[in-house]
Amino acid sequence: MIPSVLPTYARAPLSFVKGEGSWLIEADGRRFLDMGAGIAVNALGHAHPKLVEAITNQAALLWHTSNLYNIPNQTALADRLVEETFADTCFFTNSGTECAELAVKMARKYWYEKGQPERTGIIAFEGSFHGRSSAGIAAAGGDKLTRGFGPLLPGFTQLTWGDIAAVNDAIDDHTAAVIVEPVQGEGGIRPMADEDLQELRGICNRNGILLILDEVQCGVGRTGKLFAHEWAGITPDIMMIAKGIGGGFPLGVVVATQAAAAGMVAGTHGSTYGGNPLACAVGLAVLNEVSQPEFLQEVRRKSGLLRQKLEGLVAAHPDVFEEARGTGLMMGLKCKASNIDVVNAGYDNEILTVPAADNVVRFLPPLNLSDADIDEAVARLHKAASQIST
Ligand SMILES: *Cc1c(COP(=O)(O)O)cnc(C)c1O
Repeated sequence: MIPSVLPTYARAPLSFVKGEGSWLIEADGRRFLDMGAGIAVNALGHAHPKLVEAITNQAALLWHTSNLYNIPNQTALADRLVEETFADTCFFTNSGTECAELAVKMARKYWYEKGQPERTGIIAFEGSFHGRSSAGIAAAGGDKLTRGFGPLLPGFTQLTWGDIAAVNDAIDDHTAAVIVEPVQGEGGIRPMADEDLQELRGICNRNGILLILDEVQCGVGRTGKLFAHEWAGITPDIMMIAKGIGGGFPLGVVVATQAAAAGMVAGTHGSTYGGNPLACAVGLAVLNEVSQPEFLQEVRRKSGLLRQKLEGLVAAHPDVFEEARGTGLMMGLKCKASNIDVVNAGYDNEILTVPAADNVVRFLPPLNLSDADIDEAVARLHKAASQIST
């Protein structure tokens, strides 16, 4: 008989009942070190006092009004995002995949308004992940995401990851935009080289097409800059943000330049919940912490520490691990053993990591984890790896 919860997830047999910083407490009392942070969501860890305060205060005032009315928290968060980024305007969603829906609509509407409605094509990359909605799976392509769900939303092409020259060849007079994650998350922690992002920006400029960056996983301080594209010194036309921005409360946002967003006038898009007072109260509290230069500096310092220790782990267990890769606090260990075995051995040692494609184990810890948490994580991983290699 089908379970009461639709069985679309392969869940670990763990049930967490409480969180404290970088730690999760299982129903049986065991304490797990959380190096996954709900897949890069709990950017400030669990039960951060400022987030608890923000949501509790707002919960006592007002939860939801719909977008029929002004939402002061939403305007405040939009103003802050405009202040902190390239963007001129923001639309709030409840998830990453809803951002993919709007990014695609926005790019197509941009060309429609310019009198080139035939420009609907979106160039994407293999190994990408843009969520599970119809636009999200069509954009990422790949059998795993799309099989059985056709007919897919038309207009998407996937190029080989890292093959920037191919973008030039793929662009034709039906192309509207290019969409890319500056650091692929689900694809196995694969950062795009700064030069490649710069080249991609140049190609888009020369052809007048839009650049959409999916920073749902790599944004919000994850790489040690507020947004990953800042490392390359470029800006997109449209950017998708979710995961970390809500710190655990469902919140996403598409941010864009005035030019890219020009076609999205009243009535062209909407969301019942998107940007509600509760979500935006939390989003504001997260952004105010994460955007501080000292906070980002600490992310970069801890990244160096974690990186060094992961390299040590690879050196100590060459039969289990192949290499450490990634950037900021978005790191991966490419495995020689099965990544699933490594994640499971982690569970046995009370540490949580996240598998990704390309046989990678991901580390996406709370951005404010302590140096002691990093030491403890690596100690537990050494134990886990020893259990695999013997
Ligand atoms: C998680 C993710 C999404 C989808 O976000 P949901 O909130 O699960 O819909 C989209 N893009 C990237 C890069 C992601 O990591």
